[in-house]
Amino acid sequence: MIRLLLLVAFAAALHAQAYRFGLVLDGEKVIQNAVIVVEKDRIKSVGATAVGSVIDMTRYTAIPGMIDVHTHLTYVLDTNRLTQAGRGAAAVYLSQSNAKKTLETGVTTVRNLGASDYADIAMRDLIAAGMMTGPRVFASGYGLQITRGGRGGGPGTADGVAEVTKVVRQQVGAGADVIKMYGSTGSGQDVTGDQTFTYEEMKAAVDASHALGKRIAIHTYGPRGARDAIRAGADSVEHATDMDDETIAEMARKKIFYVPTIDHNRYYVDNAQMLKYPAGATGPLNDFIMRNLETAKKAFRAGVRFAMGSDAVYTMFGENTRELAWFVKAGMTPEQALKTATTDAAELLGAEDRLGRLKPGYFADIAAVEGNPLENIDAAINGVRWVMKGGAVVVDKTK
Ligand SMILES: [Zn+2]
Repeated sequence: MIRLLLLVAFAAALHAQAYRFGLVLDGEKVIQNAVIVVEKDRIKSVGATAVGSVIDMTRYTAIPGMIDVHTHLTYVLDTNRLTQAGRGAAAVYLSQSNAKKTLETGVTTVRNLGASDYADIAMRDLIAAGMMTGPRVFASGYGLQITRGGRGGGPGTADGVAEVTKVVRQQVGAGADVIKMYGSTGSGQDVTGDQTFTYEEMKAAVDASHALGKRIAIHTYGPRGARDAIRAGADSVEHATDMDDETIAEMARKKIFYVPTIDHNRYYVDNAQMLKYPAGATGPLNDFIMRNLETAKKAFRAGVRFAMGSDAVYTMFGENTRELAWFVKAGMTPEQALKTATTDAAELLGAEDRLGRLKPGYFADIAAVEGNPLENIDAAINGVRWVMKGGAVVVDKTK
């Protein structure tokens, strides 16, 4: 019997793999010179010693694999025509490089907020089955939008409370993990931020989502849509600028997450020429960035919870975590900023029991970085050298 138990233990040890890091930031504390033991797709232990061979990673700091709560993985740029490069299966195929570039930033989980043809759900399932390399995906399917000038009629379009309820249920029926609603205008070079869905429609979307056990993210560039999204009880509000003190206070009280996505407009400014934006486009974009940062400062001081979202599209993949630098500019310590991409983001996903920490039982999602992100957040942004997702090494730039 004892011999059998020893054999079982030996077999288990064979399946386990141990890595020693100079520092481990487990999501709560800093542990020096610690060994992380990984078994299958989970973390088995984090501690000082390990049985058997240990892979030397002492040059690096281990942080939890990061979470980007706002991506558009299936948005691929046709650089000649400057439009979406493919639809349906073609979009899924072309999105593989976005998925790989995301992993290279140390992001091992994304919340994908808006995709045509349920391409994000297809990606999620292919990645989960090990048939495509990429981060874990929490997918929304189509984002809800109203009929307006030149848009509407397609899947995801909803006008009025009854249609909103129906389209939310259609997304969940198609396999969505989360609901996305476009509560205002604004995207790309357009920073208008005019409210689209009414309060009643937002409330209907929130109720329909929650009734089916799903969370809802409401996009709004402007303050009026944000006020109604918060009043309606959205789980996160994306982008919003110029929110007044009362709205921010209600957001803090209701523990609604703010996902400012400040950096995505920096991407549009940097790439205005490549995207052939008209000459005057960067002025309003830069103005929006400053108002976005000011709103983030106010919200942070008021105790609003933040999660890191890049709003990455097209060639922005690979820059997913640059938002963290804006969060430090908004007043966070590097530690607080890192939490927005780990423990806090996991909470927004409802996955705080398995993602965002390096603890026994959690998924073995680990980013090894050069330097200490608690001293300089740049280590998390530009220092990622090795990434493990679910126990498998998916990025290795250590050699
Ligand atoms: Zn977006």
